[in-house]
Amino acid sequence: MERKDIIAQQAQLHDSFYLYDGCGILERTECLKSNFPGIEFLYSIKCNPHPQVLRTIFSQGFGADAASLGEVLLAGEAGLSKNQIYYSAPGKTEKDIETAITRAVLIADSLSEIRRIQNAAERLGIVAEIGIRINPDFTFYADCGMPSKFGIDQDQALDFLQNQTCPNVRITGIHVHLKSQELQADVLAGYYRKMFRLAEIFQRACGGLEYVNLGSGIGIPYSGKDSELDMPLLGAALEKELAGFRSMHPSTRVMIEVGRYAVCKSGVYVTKVIDRKVSRGKSYLILKNTLNGFLRPSLAQLVMHYSQETSPAGTEPLFTSGDAFGFLTLKEDAPTEYVTLVGNLCTAADVVADDILMPRMEPGDVVIMTNAGSYAAVLSPMQFSAQEKPAELFLHPDGRVV
Ligand SMILES: *Cc1c(COP(=O)(O)O)cnc(C)c1O
Repeated sequence: MERKDIIAQQAQLHDSFYLYDGCGILERTECLKSNFPGIEFLYSIKCNPHPQVLRTIFSQGFGADAASLGEVLLAGEAGLSKNQIYYSAPGKTEKDIETAITRAVLIADSLSEIRRIQNAAERLGIVAEIGIRINPDFTFYADCGMPSKFGIDQDQALDFLQNQTCPNVRITGIHVHLKSQELQADVLAGYYRKMFRLAEIFQRACGGLEYVNLGSGIGIPYSGKDSELDMPLLGAALEKELAGFRSMHPSTRVMIEVGRYAVCKSGVYVTKVIDRKVSRGKSYLILKNTLNGFLRPSLAQLVMHYSQETSPAGTEPLFTSGDAFGFLTLKEDAPTEYVTLVGNLCTAADVVADDILMPRMEPGDVVIMTNAGSYAAVLSPMQFSAQEKPAELFLHPDGRVV
């Protein structure tokens, strides 16, 4: 069945829904694997934890980047084992540590967290093999470090490793993640180069590393003005760096995390026109569950409204750009009109698009919003105003909608 027929069919059953496309996700995981040979991948669950999405991605050999205890448990329920789940987040509580220590590889985010892991491991009578998240002496664009709430400053970590007294903790890996949504292959390649130099330093300081997690950064085009990241070029650059590193450290595993790259393009948000009105010459379409069903388009309107700049910098994952989402209909042949798309909440902030050209729509017609596979359902305030929640549907590679 054609994609638009599936959407029309599901719109008979649901007034608003997400539709995730399993085939699309598999194409992306395949693209990563073929362009980055020798690399292991982790999926960042926080961008879309739908159980079928997790199963699909994990079935391709991906491990999990978990940002909370809840995500550690979700990854376990989806079938991953302890050594495939990497739990990296600032501010883990005692309970988070105690519960996750036997279910995931903990990535300590501060020196005091290493001590808390030491205490938990001692209580349990085990030696915990953990990673540490490093705040390195570089950024994507410069060769000096920045203050950060994430990770342990490189110098502090090295100092700790020289003088550590944690008999129940063994540090076997490092993790760095500095930035999301990078579209320049040469910038990412430069970052990977710096990462391998950093890994070299920690190989020595830790007496060998089992893994180096390069984090994420792999971006996707949201706006029509963005161009696709050159994956073959990036893959070739990484392969070259990796070959040099592997000649020194043949058994150290190298990992990359992806969230949005794997899923964003494979999700749409579909909602229905409930009403239309013209007020003092301006045409409005009132849609079901916009700000509360898919927050990011409304947030983009809000940022653009208050910003003095024509293209304000992104603040991921809340804001990417003012034109990050497409609005489509199934009525391609209808005459067009300028309309403002608003939602059914009792707030004037509930605007998703202001005065855009669309085919004329009537109550019952559907509006399809693109780029809704990541940071979409999970970021939306669905509890607000006791509204009925959008459904989350998964289109199986075999054609079934579940
Ligand atoms: C959110 C997150 C990611 C995923 O970022 P994307 O831009 O969606 O790929 C990767 N690593 C860490 C540590 C994260 O917090």
